[in-house]
Amino acid sequence: MSPFRPAVDAIEGYVPGEQPQETGWVKLNTNENPYPPSQQAIEAIVGKANDRLNVYPDPLARGFCQLVAEQMDLDPEWILPANGSDENLTILLRSFVEPGEQIACPYPSYILYETLAAIQGAGTQRLLLNADWSFDFAAAERTIANSKLVLVPNPNSPSGTKWSHDDLLRLVPPKGVFVLDEAYGAFADNPHDGSVLQSEAGRRIVMTRTVSKAFSLAGLRFGYAIAHPDLIRGMRKVKDSYNCDALAIAGATAALADTEWLTETTAKIRATRRRLSAALAELGFEVTPSQANFVWVTHPDRNHQSIYQSLKENRVLIRYMQYPEAPAFGAHGLDGLRITIGTDAEIDRFLDVLRIVLGRDS
Ligand code: PMP
Repeated sequence: MSPFRPAVDAIEGYVPGEQPQETGWVKLNTNENPYPPSQQAIEAIVGKANDRLNVYPDPLARGFCQLVAEQMDLDPEWILPANGSDENLTILLRSFVEPGEQIACPYPSYILYETLAAIQGAGTQRLLLNADWSFDFAAAERTIANSKLVLVPNPNSPSGTKWSHDDLLRLVPPKGVFVLDEAYGAFADNPHDGSVLQSEAGRRIVMTRTVSKAFSLAGLRFGYAIAHPDLIRGMRKVKDSYNCDALAIAGATAALADTEWLTETTAKIRATRRRLSAALAELGFEVTPSQANFVWVTHPDRNHQSIYQSLKENRVLIRYMQYPEAPAFGAHGLDGLRITIGTDAEIDRFLDVLRIVLGRDS
């Protein structure tokens, strides 16, 4: 007999993207930022490494919360730092969802939401997206009526598309909490400012952000939730006492303070996104207009997996993704390729290899 809870036995477990630890790869598979982080962040991490690592960190990371509060004109009680956004998602599931209850999230989207629900013994009701990545609001209204948590990434992954605030506010569940996952928010042409939190439904909205993507600190593991203190208070009870380590708190605080670095880097990524999207369209791909640091493409020949594999044989790593239960995209659902925006040199190398793979290198 299995010693595990039935909920654990029942799941496959979330499989993170491939993370080759050796150099020599053009790594465009897990939406990291290709540029080095802010020098100020690096100095803060090194400084902290030499400053009393023998003692526990501040369990509430109050210095970090103070900075975000100033930047967003909020009280620090609105902020909950965590070990990456993924930890905040776990805290949200454990705080708001009982076993047997339901969550809702779009599909195709970030599959981790469904895994976390299953671990909690909860079910997932998918908000099946239309082929243009819009919501079917008539169906969604019925689904969210009995959802404890509705989780939506904006921009979405794998599409990179972005929904309007009006669309998102229609998805706030009448008897639950809405999670606006802004992992890729800073790459949008008009990044979100937090104003949905001031809306009528704002007391039931939690925004999650991370330093993994826009701030080039995926190796650090640090994210934060922003929500009304009534929600944050409960979530604090659920988190581990010392969920953020001292190096991560120091690095993330310095990174967020370096707003000039963020503006410059996100502008470079937007420019490369435009160039890559145009080049892929030129090569015959259907390119979904992206507001994130990746683009989602399909090819009329539907040979996505072999393109992925041939690129990999040339040490260029992108993501092949399959969403078999997405009827709006076809009888077999959707599959395609997601390519992270790298440096210009990485994207040139990717395009060179891709042209050879497609037989378009003449
Ligand atoms: N949300 C989405 C939509 C993501 O794609 C990711 C990264 N895989 C995360 C959250 C998690 O980010 P973090 O590195 O902060 O845990």
